[in-house]
Amino acid sequence: MTKLRLAIVGFGKIATTRHVPAIAEVPGVELVAIADPVATSSEVPHFASLEKLLKDGPEIDAVTLCTPPQVRSAQARLALEAGKHVMLEKPPGATVSEIAPLFAVAQAARKSLFATWHSRFAPAVEPARELLAGRKIKQVTIIWKEDVRVWHPGQDWIFAAGGFGVFDPGINALSILTRILPRPVFVTRAELGFPANREAPIVVDMEMADATGLPIKVEFDFRQTGPQTWDIRIETDRGSMVLSGGGARMSDGDKGVVDAMKEEYPALYRRFVDLAAKGECDVDLAPLQIVADAFLLGRHRNVEAFEF
Ligand code: NAP
Repeated sequence: MTKLRLAIVGFGKIATTRHVPAIAEVPGVELVAIADPVATSSEVPHFASLEKLLKDGPEIDAVTLCTPPQVRSAQARLALEAGKHVMLEKPPGATVSEIAPLFAVAQAARKSLFATWHSRFAPAVEPARELLAGRKIKQVTIIWKEDVRVWHPGQDWIFAAGGFGVFDPGINALSILTRILPRPVFVTRAELGFPANREAPIVVDMEMADATGLPIKVEFDFRQTGPQTWDIRIETDRGSMVLSGGGARMSDGDKGVVDAMKEEYPALYRRFVDLAAKGECDVDLAPLQIVADAFLLGRHRNVEAFEF
């Protein structure tokens, strides 16, 4: 079997902790180069930028972009125009409208553009979707609260314009929600709290609905110390279903249905290898659109300044 020769662009926290081990686990792909401004201790050849890698690096078939979202679309275009398949970390970009031109380039070149949502590969997500398909859903509550200092230490880009702030983890919840509910959802009210010294929100309180008026309440907070919360609670005509641990666990009433420690990233790479073999794209912008709409519709208020 010919392996997909892959380069990672942006060799930071997620690339080192999740992508490298996942690539090692999936037979159809191998890591052959890295592009990042700072040299790393990795065994594979390092280049200071994607441009230098494409010019001087080894032959590659594909790139994974693990850079901050603000620089992704220019890199994706460069890679696609160089004839490479492209996998995007979430969120797929800093804006919604920058993705359509990339999609067009990918389709014209018959290259894969894969906008990943890693949380959709959490073990309880598909069982939740199947369970909900047979029920009437009455109410949804999302509580997604984590400590930015633990998960994004010193990452100033996350609080810069286009960095998403607390929507960076929050969009994971939205990616699960938009997968498990039977109908599209939209924002009806939002309040975004921006630290006085930052350009992206640190706390969000939001309501959404679907066409039937389903009430969906959302709380995102990046200031949570102690226990971290990544829960989606869904009231149905046959009791409550709770997805917790970011989609690792599911309970139906009192009964635990799923409780697994499955890694999400190997599944992402298996999907990418499959897409690349067929020259197909997988791009779903629904979670990104919700975040954009929250910025459009939401009230913006100042909260206490934030330093890492
Ligand atoms: P990170 O640790 O800041 O890593 C980003 C890396 O990209 C840094 O090494 C950065 O270098 C490099 N970079 C910046 N501009 C670049 C450019 N133009 N070309 C090449 N490299 C460049 O951030 P991260 O936590 O890995 O997050 C990256 C993405 O993964 C985000 O979209 C995030 O939402 C997603 N993600 C993160 C997590 C998590 O737990 N951290 C989980 C899932 C998904 P410098 O530091 O030198 O600028």
